[in-house]
Amino acid sequence: MPIPERFLDELIARTDLVDLVSESVRLTKKGNSYWGCCPFHSEKTPSFHVVPDKQMFKCFGCGKGGGAINYVMELENLPFRDAVAVLAKRAGMEMPETWEPSAGSRQRREKLLAINKQAARIFHKWLYEPEGAQGLAYLQQRGLSQRTLTRFGLGFAPNRWVVLIEALAKEGYDKRDLLDAGLAVNNKDGRIYDRFRNRVMFPIIDVRGEVIGFGGRVMDDSTPKYLNSPDTPVYNKSRNVFALNIAKKSKAGRVILTEGYMDTIALHQAGFDSAVASLGTSLTQEHAQLLARYFPEAIISYDGDGAGIAAAQRAIPLLEKAGMKVRVLRVTGAKDPDEFLKAYGRDAFARLLDQSENQVDYRLDQLRSKYDLEDDTQRVAFLQDAAQLLSTLPSPVEREIYGGHAAKTAGVSPEVMAQEVKKAFSRRVRKQQKQQERRDLTPAIQLQPRQRGLRYENIRSARAEEGVIRLLLLDPSLAEEMAQLPPEDFSSPLLGKVYRLLLRRAQEGLSTQLPLLAGELTGEEMDHLAYVAGKPESLANSRRSLADYIAVIRGEALKRSGVSGDDLLLAAKQNNLKKKAYMEETP
Ligand SMILES: [Zn+2]
Repeated sequence: MPIPERFLDELIARTDLVDLVSESVRLTKKGNSYWGCCPFHSEKTPSFHVVPDKQMFKCFGCGKGGGAINYVMELENLPFRDAVAVLAKRAGMEMPETWEPSAGSRQRREKLLAINKQAARIFHKWLYEPEGAQGLAYLQQRGLSQRTLTRFGLGFAPNRWVVLIEALAKEGYDKRDLLDAGLAVNNKDGRIYDRFRNRVMFPIIDVRGEVIGFGGRVMDDSTPKYLNSPDTPVYNKSRNVFALNIAKKSKAGRVILTEGYMDTIALHQAGFDSAVASLGTSLTQEHAQLLARYFPEAIISYDGDGAGIAAAQRAIPLLEKAGMKVRVLRVTGAKDPDEFLKAYGRDAFARLLDQSENQVDYRLDQLRSKYDLEDDTQRVAFLQDAAQLLSTLPSPVEREIYGGHAAKTAGVSPEVMAQEVKKAFSRRVRKQQKQQERRDLTPAIQLQPRQRGLRYENIRSARAEEGVIRLLLLDPSLAEEMAQLPPEDFSSPLLGKVYRLLLRRAQEGLSTQLPLLAGELTGEEMDHLAYVAGKPESLANSRRSLADYIAVIRGEALKRSGVSGDDLLLAAKQNNLKKKAYMEETP
């Protein structure tokens, strides 16, 4: 059952976006709006814009946009309904009764979190029982102290089939609940048994301190080495990072990214309290954005093997895109950070961290390994590739410094290298200028949504469609004029959908503010809509502009339907519309 619309209307009316955003972002007023540093990506100069009139925000850096509900969804990583509940609580509103008990999405979430918490307690308790002796011995042998075991709530799942199911049944949870929480699995015959068996258990805790899932590790060489909870309504592996609940409190100012639970835990035990790990998946853009909220800098500390190097190469651009400074640590003399710590101690690792390479040096080094520098032809090829790489650095000082490094590697003079980089840099600048010129000449490209999936088929129509939506957002009373414009005439599916939603709201006397659409649109759709809504639109001549927009949209729709030859009909229709608007505006 959907949330009653009147309730949402009141919620949005009672929530001031500027107040809400101010709780997490320092905003500065400029004219009629506010600017601040975006909470969704790391930045030093503000590109996050809040427009009180429209109750919307828009980031010109990462592209995120929307209203109050989207803000909470994004900031707290919550689904729509839960974000509504957060705002309702904040506004002192009771959640509507018709919604809560029947829909139960939030209840279900809470139930899953409660099951996970209970399961974590049980796993932890088993670690100290005779059946868990093997697990405890394993963790101790890996060098983990009593304090660390408690701090991370590590546990043990015995080598039996339904032991967790039975234990949780005593707490009132049935097999269905465990299946939902990802703690049990279903076999072909429909038998349900424990997912985690004979494994040491790592609870995965989100930034709010809730147990959302588990990782289980075998104690020998059997496979899979790690088994993780599947994605559930409370756990999404590409949006959560292990140990961030602890690392987020670190004063280190830089996050240490590792490949696994054991590395992360070993680092914490040695006092490096900003270590985290991505969970059973390589780093995603969402992970990077999440980390960028807490840290301006990342040190990638992956294994030294081929897989680790490849993973680091993939992670660098993602972290940079999220606005972080990136360095790469090279573990030498050990296969991973955990082994390094055991062999050389914490001071040696601290030195390793301080020496961790800037990602430029790291990439230069990766490049070098592809060439045989004894061979002159290959040496030239290396220098050209290196110059190409260095030409992407925006600062001339950086280009010079790293140019020096590359020159030294290849055994040429820094001047020669500087020349090479300069040439590559000018080529790049010229290429970018050409691309810009092409873009300027074809404004159609600029008008396209940034999100690929939302590309406009018909720019001329889409521009008018955007205008109609802006007007409807600004003044719902204009809906009366729109009776002649059916949503089917819209060329953009997204804009057509938004138009239909807003029109219906307006006709039912509901508010047509952008934040109210949060439940109906995906994040990407909302980002684009916030961009559309943010473009200038005047209400001064609104009826006239509306008539023009409608004429364009109808005209283009007629063309699409194949009536394009009939210019007379088209012209007549357009004239009629214009006349109508004119007469209404003239007193
Ligand atoms: Zn941003």
